Amino acid sequence: MESMKKKKERVRRIFEILNPLYTHEKTALKFRTPFQLLISTILSAQCTDKQVNSVTKGLFKKYRGPRDYVSAPIAELEADIRPTGFFRNKAKSLKGCSQGLLDLYGGEVPSTMEELVKLPGVGRKTANCVLGAAFDIPGVVVDTHVKRLSIRLGLTQNQNPDKIERDIQELLPEDQWRRFSDLLIYHGREVCKARKPDHDHCAVLGYCPSISIWARSKLRSLKL
Ligand code: SF4
Repeated sequence: MESMKKKKERVRRIFEILNPLYTHEKTALKFRTPFQLLISTILSAQCTDKQVNSVTKGLFKKYRGPRDYVSAPIAELEADIRPTGFFRNKAKSLKGCSQGLLDLYGGEVPSTMEELVKLPGVGRKTANCVLGAAFDIPGVVVDTHVKRLSIRLGLTQNQNPDKIERDIQELLPEDQWRRFSDLLIYHGREVCKARKPDHDHCAVLGYCPSISIWARSKLRSLKL
């Protein structure tokens, strides 16, 4: 079994290799205020950042603050966010979250995990996105890509996102948490995809324990 020291060294190398490969912006979601980022992050579930940005371009002109979401007729809000998918649930979350902001925090987006997760529709993943991108507070965002890659790269044996978050935090210095999750997201989108991971073009192949499993099955399929 790999020691913690060796695993940390391996993660350090993975970070060094991936870091220069993905030079996207901090987040591809476009926002001007923490509130706009919170709205965009809720809309980004099961939707591309590009699609969210095309919807929020008009949305942010029409809905300026939490009161506008709370007072909007639900059917109208659903229609306005429909292209992002799962629009009924998302409209409920936007209304609930906006109402929570007004009731608990005077309409302002708070800057702590503890306060953010008290808002309806806001889990740790959304909270970490907002804390990292809007307030520069370190955190590990565990979305579907981070979860998959953490498991494939042998960084965790857990399936639960909160436990994965803690496992990754133990492996890296705090100031690299946010960047490392972004790197795993980009690598997961472009190379280590869910269905067809492109091992042949993977820059961290030499540091991935899954590769030996993949190589064995490839050899078996080739009958070598
Ligand atoms: S070697 Fe394969 S499984 Fe491992 S990170 Fe790269 S693409 Fe993913």
